[in-house]
Amino acid sequence: MNLILMGLPGAGKGTQADKIVEKYGVPHISTGDMFRAAIKNETELGLKAKAYMDEGALVPDEVTIGIVRERLSQDDCKKGFLLDGFPRTVAQASALEIMLQEMERSLDHVVYIKVPKEDLFKRLTGRWICPTCGTAYHEQFNPPKEKGKCDKDGSELIQRDDDKPETVDKRLEVNLEQTKPLVDFYEDKGYLRNIDGQQEIDQVFTEVDKLLQESRG
Ligand SMILES: [Zn+2]
Repeated sequence: MNLILMGLPGAGKGTQADKIVEKYGVPHISTGDMFRAAIKNETELGLKAKAYMDEGALVPDEVTIGIVRERLSQDDCKKGFLLDGFPRTVAQASALEIMLQEMERSLDHVVYIKVPKEDLFKRLTGRWICPTCGTAYHEQFNPPKEKGKCDKDGSELIQRDDDKPETVDKRLEVNLEQTKPLVDFYEDKGYLRNIDGQQEIDQVFTEVDKLLQESRG
């Protein structure tokens, strides 16, 4: 089972990834983890990537793709993988396609957890935390008993910079712009499977699961 999981920030991608891993036992390969491991193990590519990151520069595709190749060649990926955060561009997607051909493998699905931008905006800007005890709240999903106050110690809740409307809006815009060409790419190739991410978490997984079961045939 060779999968790519896609979704904008707030779409619940991480939660679905955990559920897929739990049920199907495929390794969850997120770009961040992969880079951290390569750097920690001081692989040649890991060191290259680190040099770029230390300078605050973007890691070039050839290095990123090399790291993905190293990771996918490991034993635990023999029965499949769940890629998350890669590919990020059409160039990377094309490189992945060639890499998989060379490895005599192919993608099964690209699962795209789709949630309208307005909904993601609400989800992401609804987060508030207590500066005293660190408890996290959400206006919609987990509101404090008294608006703006921590249930435990009554502190005034604050919003992290990352969760502020203007930051969230920008992040979503950037992600949408980046995601659109990839979605089109995989749609053209016939790999794209849209999943309605506006449902409850368990319902979303039921749909994902159904899709994966069918493809196992
Ligand atoms: Zn508190």
